[in-house]
Amino acid sequence: MNPDLRDLYQELILDHSRKPKNFGTLEGDCQHADGFNPLCGDRVRIFVKVEGGAVADIRFDGVGCAISTASASILTDTVKGRTVEEVKRYFDVFHRLVTGNPEPEETLDLGKLEVFAGVSEFPARVKCATLCWHTLKEAIDSQNEGSVTTE
Ligand code: ZN
Repeated sequence: MNPDLRDLYQELILDHSRKPKNFGTLEGDCQHADGFNPLCGDRVRIFVKVEGGAVADIRFDGVGCAISTASASILTDTVKGRTVEEVKRYFDVFHRLVTGNPEPEETLDLGKLEVFAGVSEFPARVKCATLCWHTLKEAIDSQNEGSVTTE
């Protein structure tokens, strides 16, 4: 990756970790799950409202490192309004991106998720970036509440 792009990506990650989007909780009828990454100590809780097979609203809270917080912030921005099927596809593509196995001809527009491409060079941080995605999947799959750990 070229150094300028890397700086830009780091800047974006720091920005999202300082001022996360959709941070907080959802009231009323929603599903949630807790995620824990014991390697780093990241904790995230995802609240999601699924209506008509799509993500109507989503929030997260928790405490974690810059990568886990930024990843959850960008995740909420990315999946809001998308169908559950699309969310699963994003998870798959994102997972391949951060583990360094991107599809050679990926057609899905990753948008801001692209900033995590550099994580593939730091295997210990992959779980920081994917924790919120595992937690979201658990929240969607569970009828009411669930929990997930990266171990
Ligand atoms: Zn972390």
